[in-house]
Formats: sequence, structure tokens, C-alpha cells
Amino acid sequence: MADIIHLLPDSVANQIAAGEVIQRPASIVKELVENAVDAGSTEIKVVLKEAGKSRVQVIDNGCGMSDTDARMSFERHATSKIKEASDLFSIRTMGFRGEALASMAAVAQVELKTCKKEDQLGTLIIIKGSKLESQEPTTCPPGTNIIVKNLFYNIPARRKFLKSNSTELRHLVIEFQRIALTLPQISFSLYHNNSEIFNLPAVPSLPQRISGVFGRGILPNLVPVNTETSIIKIRGHIGKPEFARKTYGEQFFFVNRRFMRHPYFNKAVTEAYEEILAPETIPSYFLYFEIDPENIDINIHPTKTEIKFNDERSIWQIINASIREALGKFNVIPSIDFDTKGSIEIPVLRKDSQANHPQIKIDPDFNPFRDKLKLKNWENLYKQSGMDQENWASQQQDGNAQSELFQNGEQTQQNLFHFKGKYILSSVKSGLMVINQKRAHERILYEHFLELNSNSGSSAQKSLFPHSLKLNPADYILFKELLPDLNNMGFDIRDLGNNALIINAYPYEAYINDPVEALELLLYEYKATQVDLDKGHKERLAQSLAKASSIPYGKVLNQEEMKYMLDRLFACNSPNYSPGGKSIISIISLEEFEEKFK
Ligand code: ADP
Ligand code: MG
Repeated sequence: MADIIHLLPDSVANQIAAGEVIQRPASIVKELVENAVDAGSTEIKVVLKEAGKSRVQVIDNGCGMSDTDARMSFERHATSKIKEASDLFSIRTMGFRGEALASMAAVAQVELKTCKKEDQLGTLIIIKGSKLESQEPTTCPPGTNIIVKNLFYNIPARRKFLKSNSTELRHLVIEFQRIALTLPQISFSLYHNNSEIFNLPAVPSLPQRISGVFGRGILPNLVPVNTETSIIKIRGHIGKPEFARKTYGEQFFFVNRRFMRHPYFNKAVTEAYEEILAPETIPSYFLYFEIDPENIDINIHPTKTEIKFNDERSIWQIINASIREALGKFNVIPSIDFDTKGSIEIPVLRKDSQANHPQIKIDPDFNPFRDKLKLKNWENLYKQSGMDQENWASQQQDGNAQSELFQNGEQTQQNLFHFKGKYILSSVKSGLMVINQKRAHERILYEHFLELNSNSGSSAQKSLFPHSLKLNPADYILFKELLPDLNNMGFDIRDLGNNALIINAYPYEAYINDPVEALELLLYEYKATQVDLDKGHKERLAQSLAKASSIPYGKVLNQEEMKYMLDRLFACNSPNYSPGGKSIISIISLEEFEEKFK
């Protein structure tokens, strides 16, 4: 029998490799901007069309390439950044695998113009689907100007899987931010369909870049972190606890100027905030680690943002202690001068020694909510659904259980009984019916919102003194995508442009105290339910909105409210389960009771 194994042609091999490196337009932006950074550019401009699907262009003023290098750069495993395996342990550049350009050329149409500073003439290369179409000399300014057009034009199945423009654009913005936030000395700009999304001039310091990306308003909410140990240096800023938000979007770890995701270290940060954060809120953080590249492994996967550290437990403790220290300091120094050089001493740990939990004194009476939130809405602290329910129950017991018991004692006569701010009890034929009030309300709202949306009918609204809401650019893009449906579901929200929105009214059925907070919670919930791919977009939105605007645990309902709630619940299509699939109703049978009294 003839031999059957053969080598794949380069174009096919490149397409397969591209599957790993290029998932969506955001991957192209990441790779091209990283290349521009590695080329020593001081100015990088990104121009997008159709959320990058039809065009991603990156223009830099870096070192440029010779004509031979320009051609070579599209070969697989062609890189100028490492020469031998041992170089892998001392990488300081953003790229090194030599796969990005080859991958792009395999799945898109690429035009590259590049010129070295010392050269008179530059090079223009056109490649489509790994095939060199032309290479010729050209005049162009020093640096590189590369255009990647019609991503996946030759792989319809993958093109089809790209998400809506606003979703892809959101990914692009997130990717862009991650790079811009590490390099304040480089000027970055981002344009989409001829409108400017970011224009970040070069600035001398990180806080100035952070404010360039997230708006000037963020600076007063941050405190500096500065720690130096023999294993790791940590600098950066963390958010004051009272500005913690309900949505993700301002949490960043960078290692040697590279963004990383690290759930374990995230825990080190949030744990340091324990007790001083409102439930379900996440503090902002922008933490920059510097570590000897020998002690980390970034080569796990070309696009993964996870990084492995040699000494994770010690680093966890250093992070945790640094955050506590910064928070403690913030308590004593009310206004922060970003230029203060106050690095703390943390004992140097050796790899094999056990780290002791550093003892850092924190004023036990310090409560950042005391002044700000108490006036506004401190009760909200206890209202959110995610709050530890055990805790809530016990607080109720210690606190006003007496009066509640008394009140409820009277209510039994009317057959509905409110229990622990959480349950509605009612005697039914077969025993005692227990209804989780928050979930019941979620179900009612969910069906209500979906119905409103499908009729796009008018609904009763509570109008407000208009509230304005400023979001970070990524959330803003997501929000704009949700806006038409939200307005169908009973909101009246206008887009003001420039990351700002104005809320004029909200649906009457929704339980909303603070509309701005409710919308932040909605974004948080929406992002969290995004993993559930079975659900359509409208269902996901209705589910998140129901969660964000249902009555919170702890809210004591009166007879009438309870009755209304039950009537509405039993009028629902699926009264037994919350939109998230959790049980709403449970019946404790008479036999179970009798069992207890045996
Ligand atoms: P890597 O960045 O991993 O080396 P790439 O495929 O992204 O691999 O790029 C291949 C090579 O092309 C780089 O090593 C670099 O020498 C060159 N190159 C790519 N982009 C630029 C640029 N914007 N300016 C100068 N050289 C570049
Ligand atoms: Mg690269």
C-alpha cells in the first residue's frame, strides 16, 4: 500500500496555527500593537472599520524593517526577538513566537508598508491567504503601517462566528486598554469608523495614563501601592473601598508590562479589603508587578493571559500585605499625593521559607462608609442578593428580630407570614409553602420584561430627576448594545456620547432605589450570565435585569405586598423556578412537621 503521510502545505499549516493566535479582530490589534511596541515606537495609531472585521490598521513610528525582513516577517516561526531556547527565560519583549504575522497572512488580506529610519525607500508587501501577491519599493515615513483586511475572508465558518460589531468592538477596546495602561510614555490612539475612541498622549506617569483611559474622575478615588521585595516589586494604584463598583472592568494585573489574569492573586487583593467593601462590589486595581523573567513562565499559550509564577504563595502574601498597607495608610492620609515615594518594608522571603502573614495594623474603627454611604444609601449594603445569607439571618436575629416577630405574629392570621427578610410562608393544603421572595420577584420581572420587549409596548414608568451615568469605554460599548432592548423593557435612557448616559425613567415594576447602581448591577449580572450560551440575548438581558431590579433579601414585605407577589407569581408561565434555574417554591409537608414533634 502506498504511504499515506505527507507534509501539509504551508498555507494550510499556517491556517491551523492561526486558529490559536487569531480568534477575533481584537487578537489582531493585540498582536500588531505589541509588535509596534517591540519596535520601539513612541506613537501608535489604530484605525478600525466595522469593529475590525473589515479592517484593522496599525501605524507606528518604530524601527521599521528592511525589505528582506519585511518578507521574512510573514514566515512562521520567524522572529527577531529570540535566537535560542535559553532566551525564553529572559524575554522582555511582548512577542517572541514569530507566529502572529504568518497567522494573519493565512486568514486575511495583509498590506505592509515599512521603512527603516536610515533607508531612503521602504517596502510594500501584499499577501493574501499566505500567498505573496506583490513586493515592491515604496516611499513611506519611517516606521510600519500594516493593514489587515477582511479577517477570515477565506474561512467562512470562522467569519460567521464573529460576534456583533459592538461585542467585537468591546473586545478590541479591552485589548487596547490593556496595552495602553502599561506604557504611558507611548502615545496611543484608537479610531473606529472615523470616530475617535481614545487619544492618549504620551505622559510621564501611570496615574496620568489611567486617567487618560478612564477619565479624570478616577484619580481622586485611587491610592498608591508601592512595595519592593527581593522576589517582586509591586507598584500601582488601588481604588478606595467606597468607590468599588458592581461591575468588572477596572481590575488589572500586569507582569513586566504584560497584562495577566490571575484569579488567585485577585483573591489576595479582594481579601485585603474584607469587611470594608459593600457586598458584591469589586475594588478597582491597577497593579504592576516587576519580577525576574526567570521566575515566571509566560510561554504557556500564545494568547492565554495566564502566567505561572514560581513562588505563588509568597507573592500572594506580599500582594495582600501591600494592599492592606495601602488601605491603612489611606486611612491616615486623607489626600494622596501621587508623587510621594513611600515604599514599605516587607521582610524578604526566600523561596523555601514559609511566609508569615505580615502583621499590618489597621484601625478597627475605620469604616469608609461611615460618612459617604450612610447619608446616601447605607442600607444597600445589606440589600444585595449576593450577600452571605447566613449572615443576614443572624443579623436579623441579633437585631430587630423581636419587633419583627411581633409584627409577623399578627400576620399569621391572614395566612401569609414573612420570614427572615427572605421567605414568604403560607399554609397550604399539603403543608407549609415556603417561597423565596427574591427569586419569586425575579421570575415575575423576567416574564414581565420579556413580554414588554416582545410587544415593544409602552409600560408604566417611574420618571426620575434625570441621573447621569458615566461608564468605562468597554462597558459603554456593551451598554449601547443593550440600550434599545432596555428602553423597550420600560427604561428611558439616552446616550449622551462620550461614555455617558442619562436615565430619565425606569420600569414601574422594578425595585430600584438608586438607578445608577441598578444599571451597574445589571451590567455585572449581564456579564456573569454571558457564559450561558443557550440563552438568547433578550432572555439574558431580561434575566440580568430581573436580578438587578428585584427586591433584595432583607426587605420586609407587608401583607398586601406579599399577596400581590404570590398572585403575580402564580400567573407566571413557570412559577417554580427563577430565571437562573433555582427553586422558588418548597413545600414542607405535614408529615415532616409531625416527624419533628415525635
Ligand atoms: P514576534 O513578534 O513573535 O517576533 P511576529 O510574527 O509578530 O512575531 O513578527 C515577526 C517579526 O516581524 C518580529 O520579530 C519583528 O522583527 C518584525 N516586526 C513585526 N512587526 C513589526 C513592526 N511594527 N515594526 C518592526 N518590526 C516588526
Ligand atoms: Mg509579534
